[in-house]
Amino acid sequence: MTIQTPKTNSARMNATIQASCEWGCTPDGGMARLALSDADASVRRWFIAETKALGCAVHIDAMGNIFAVRPGRYDLPPIAVGSHLDTQPTGGRYDGILGVLAGLEILRALDEAAYRTAYPVAAVCWTNEEGARFVPSCLGSGVYAGALSLQYGHSRTDEAGVSVRAELERHGMLGELEASHTSNPLTAHFELHIEQGPILHEAKQPVAAVSGVQGWRWFEIALQGRGSHAGTTPFAYRRDPLIAFAKLVLAAERVAQSLGGLCTIGRVGSTAAQSTNCVMDDVVFHLDLRHHTAEGMAALEGTMRAEFATIIAGEEGVEITRWDTLTAVQPTVFDTEAVACVRHAAEATGMAHEDLVSGAGHDSVFTARTCPTAMCFIRCRDGISHHPSEYATPEDIAVGTEVLLQAVLAYERKLTAKLEHKS
Ligand SMILES: [Zn+2]
Repeated sequence: MTIQTPKTNSARMNATIQASCEWGCTPDGGMARLALSDADASVRRWFIAETKALGCAVHIDAMGNIFAVRPGRYDLPPIAVGSHLDTQPTGGRYDGILGVLAGLEILRALDEAAYRTAYPVAAVCWTNEEGARFVPSCLGSGVYAGALSLQYGHSRTDEAGVSVRAELERHGMLGELEASHTSNPLTAHFELHIEQGPILHEAKQPVAAVSGVQGWRWFEIALQGRGSHAGTTPFAYRRDPLIAFAKLVLAAERVAQSLGGLCTIGRVGSTAAQSTNCVMDDVVFHLDLRHHTAEGMAALEGTMRAEFATIIAGEEGVEITRWDTLTAVQPTVFDTEAVACVRHAAEATGMAHEDLVSGAGHDSVFTARTCPTAMCFIRCRDGISHHPSEYATPEDIAVGTEVLLQAVLAYERKLTAKLEHKS
């Protein structure tokens, strides 16, 4: 008997994306499908019906995370393909949606080929990845990974004061299953996503394996100088915190570039009132640092602090009075073997870019804490996302979906060989 090799169907995948975007679409072609809104509940119910029709067992956990599991020959934790179906209020049709529907398409391809895997294969929909309606982002996968408590997840409210738990109950999505990787483990997690940046677009390449996700640290820093009259205070007598700040901005860029990281100052203000006729009294700003390795991140912060201290020491009468850490997230390094499976499948297309590091956070950051995880990026037009103009071509979507299927199958065969060799 010849075994039919599973293959994803480009026309079906692309038609499914557009059809599923009927729930939550906006007149400009974008999406506004906020987490646990009526539109989100509708697309989730549709996803459950589609996977059940393929013979999957569908489990919903206490955070509303949906696991559609296609049985394998062994009763083992599934190899999952997951992402999210919620969007930003001014979102596009691909961020997250692509990843969940790639999971559905992979299930359909396996079913069509009557292909039997040893491990179960699951498509997973994580709740509230965007953090747009309920802060923070990656709420469903965060609770699942044990990084956030269930009580915390349930008690998040939107601007109208409606809680996650109330919305889960209203939609019948408050599952019986514990939201936990210990009681509901996965063997591995694969995620297909648009890059959301310009690298693949600029390189004119459709696909890349993702080796990890940058870490980030956010700081609020206050500089105190002395406000004074703009007309009567000669330069020698000024204690201008804005001049000091300007020097810090240039130093921050220089340090981040020299260490292969990123820095951004996206917020600047002052606590004292500002006036055209006054030297500023104080400057308060936010500094965002990013790096893809833990050592790099530590060096970035350390060098930044030393450099800032040196500069401020040379600014008479100006001091750093506060340096508060707002957030610190360690870089994620994905599983070597799972990444290699994505890389080999991408290389087989002859159109792969070298491995990328994700600049944005994803559900895979949290699954990576619980099981071997890897991601695959496809190109998106001009690197734009979180905007109605977000776009990936049907051709690139087809490439990405097929790469992910082949990566999952390769990974599954490797694990099965180990398993059956042992027994
Ligand atoms: Zn996303």
